[in-house]
Amino acid sequence: MKIFISVDIEGIAGVNEPLQGQRGNPEYEIARRLMTQEANAAIRGAFAGGASEVVVADSHGPMRNMIAEDLDRRAFLVSGKPRPLSMIEGLRSDHSGVILIGYHAAAGETGVLAHTVSGLAFAQIRVNGKITGEPTLFAGHAAEIGVPLLAASGDDRLCAEILKQFPGARRVEVKTALGAQSSQSLSPEASRELIEAEVAEAVRNADTAKIDLPCKPPLDIEIRLMRQVYADAAALLPHIIRKSATEISFTAVSHQQAIGTIAALALMASAL
Ligand SMILES: [Zn+2]
Repeated sequence: MKIFISVDIEGIAGVNEPLQGQRGNPEYEIARRLMTQEANAAIRGAFAGGASEVVVADSHGPMRNMIAEDLDRRAFLVSGKPRPLSMIEGLRSDHSGVILIGYHAAAGETGVLAHTVSGLAFAQIRVNGKITGEPTLFAGHAAEIGVPLLAASGDDRLCAEILKQFPGARRVEVKTALGAQSSQSLSPEASRELIEAEVAEAVRNADTAKIDLPCKPPLDIEIRLMRQVYADAAALLPHIIRKSATEISFTAVSHQQAIGTIAALALMASAL
């Protein structure tokens, strides 16, 4: 049984503020270790639950955060960017399930470090009218190719989003949001124990997991950008419709196509 794990940083126990996700400071060096260790807890859980192969995708910011040398030797590591399918690259249709670790609430919602794909670029993304977070897009792609979301870890706001959009998945709440940059968190050690146990249970039951698909293609995507100049750049693409100074929309035939356009828009914004 093959299991795919995608790991972000904002929903890791002990992570609260933007500096912890940004290279070049001591806080980041601590946070990337916490991220690597939560990934290892999920890998241990997956093998304990019956996995025979585990692929882990490093999926925060530069997508080269986890300390490769410290990663559980049984797992394959996907890292670096840009890459096809962004946070879900490495997932194939013969995987039995997806696990999201260290995820967070959607842009425009409350929650620790809430954003969708890029906090710099996007104020809010809606797909088929639904407020869209990273699980909506990436676990949505998995569901579209027939792979269920088995479990997701992060704060209570992420868990509320998962309950609404992926009710069949296990929710692993490692902290309670007190604001955008504050939380009450489990200790890293307690968080790892909880993740390992919950992932093991989720993987053990993978063969009966329900496939939740919150947004069915074709996807009608509406984006509010953070700055007018980002919309100017986005509107250069022929399939983008300009709605207002900062709002754009487009349609996608699949989650894969939506992910590609959104990832490219984020890269364009980071260049301006
Ligand atoms: Zn993220």
